[in-house]
Amino acid sequence: MPGPVKTEAIVLRSMRYGEADRILHLYTPDRGRMSAIAKGVRRARSRFGGRLEPFFRLHIELHEGRGELLTVTGAQTVEGHPRLRGDARALDAAARACDAVGRLFETSEPHPGVFNLLCRQLVLLDRRAAAEAGASGFTRGWAGALAFRLKLLLAAGLAPQLGACASCGEHEHLVGFSGAAGGVVCAACEAGSFPLAEDAYRFMAEALGRALSEVPEVPEPALSQVERAIAATLEHHAHVRLMPAVGRSG
Ligand SMILES: [Zn+2]
Repeated sequence: MPGPVKTEAIVLRSMRYGEADRILHLYTPDRGRMSAIAKGVRRARSRFGGRLEPFFRLHIELHEGRGELLTVTGAQTVEGHPRLRGDARALDAAARACDAVGRLFETSEPHPGVFNLLCRQLVLLDRRAAAEAGASGFTRGWAGALAFRLKLLLAAGLAPQLGACASCGEHEHLVGFSGAAGGVVCAACEAGSFPLAEDAYRFMAEALGRALSEVPEVPEPALSQVERAIAATLEHHAHVRLMPAVGRSG
């Protein structure tokens, strides 16, 4: 329906277009992922200022024409996450979080829970930015990124089955994880699975059950297994591949 659209949105990506324009990928509570063009935004006197940049949470006004691309007509900042912008690792983590949302929820189907989850994750990254340096900060950042992905899986209806063997229902001797089966598997069903340690299992169960701010602490080998379990689930059930949850350079 052509006409004006007002919505909250997070800017997932912002790409230069032509002389002075930008194409934006937005994530909204009621209309899922949207694409929009912001005209003249790269001119020094643009009325949008710098707020049509990735990770801004905005009240945005758009005009919907007949094409798929809406036109931005107004924008006010709800949250700019200023600390995040000064921290390379936090910026990288925010980009990966936005990329994961854009890939997993790429249609206009509304998922307000996913919008709220992304808002919370960006606030947490902003709060933790600069406060967490060094190797322990890396591990905590990785754990936080995986907890976020697990909650995205839950929102997509793809949460791994953890309570019993995903193949046969057995409750004991759960030793592996199978992306094809969609969860943990027992010793009798482990063909095609990979080993899942007790602490990796615990991480997944706790991360799914807790608030995003309460990230369980486990050592890095367990985080590798969790990341592999998430990737295997997505590949088998959503045919989506995400970039690694954390960058290795920072
Ligand atoms: Zn089994």
